[in-house]
Amino acid sequence: MTIKVTNLSKIYGSQKALDSISFEAHKGEILGFLGPNGAGKSTTMKILTGYIPATSGQAFINGIEINENSIAIRKEVGYLPELNPLYTDMYVKEFLLFIANSYGITEGANQAAEEMISKTGLSLERKKKISQLSKGYKQRVGLAAAMIHNPSVLILDEPTSGLDPNQVSEIRNLIKEIGKNKTVILSSHIMQEVEAMCDRVIIINRGKIVADDKIEKLQQSFSKEYLISVQFKNSPTIESIKAIDKSIKVLPTKEGFTITAKEDIRENIAQKAAENNWLILSMNLEESSLEQVFQSLTK
Ligand code: ADP
Ligand code: MG
Repeated sequence: MTIKVTNLSKIYGSQKALDSISFEAHKGEILGFLGPNGAGKSTTMKILTGYIPATSGQAFINGIEINENSIAIRKEVGYLPELNPLYTDMYVKEFLLFIANSYGITEGANQAAEEMISKTGLSLERKKKISQLSKGYKQRVGLAAAMIHNPSVLILDEPTSGLDPNQVSEIRNLIKEIGKNKTVILSSHIMQEVEAMCDRVIIINRGKIVADDKIEKLQQSFSKEYLISVQFKNSPTIESIKAIDKSIKVLPTKEGFTITAKEDIRENIAQKAAENNWLILSMNLEESSLEQVFQSLTK
């Protein structure tokens, strides 16, 4: 495997941002880190790229331990940070040459920059200043910079956030193409993003891994649950709905509630509603989607 993480923890002051996470990633895999804001995705990525040390635990990339080799590790890893910091006064090619030089590439710098420009579709923008580019094209420059030293691992922190739908799909395609020959870890707080791009997903919540599986497997293992969405006119409390059955989960939604149960308990809900004079406006049995899996694991 190219990445191996064991019992990695990070404490900021008194806050435990990462709580003993362990996982592996393999060559040619696009792995998604999915989790709500503050889950610990960026923290994990910063540790994997050698930018911050872990508090405890170990992480290896291509057999190199990261905490002890935080400089050496940067040769192995390409990193697109969350806010994609670019020198916006520089021209595209100039910036890529600058980054190549910062990796110690001198003779091959021009060729490396040209290759990245063509690979990321920047040929027509190569002579523009970065500040003149659209957000989608700025993101391409960030990807080109992350890959210029030909690392075997790419760590992309929320690579499509803030892009419009067309730009999102272009960047997704680009990452999928790039991912064929590398190990890619990307983070997102959006389920559909991970569903569209990744082979495997690790769901992180409050510093812990709550799921780690192939996307289809996650969908299957949760498909045995029944999801009932119900809308009431005079909304009862979550607690009073939970009283229907101890084993059910109740989540508030925009319109009402989603109830997760081991059986189809629509009849029980209707009965309880009648007893309590809750007026049901609608009630539907829904298919379990990954979105709901994610919600139930991270609430
Ligand atoms: P995510 O990327 O999943 O949104 P982060 O890894 O950025 O989450 O943050 C995880 C937790 O650690 C959050 O609660 C965040 O506030 C906290 N945190 C992140 N960076 C720092 C820091 N430099 N100092 C203190 N707390 C931090
Ligand atoms: Mg983050």
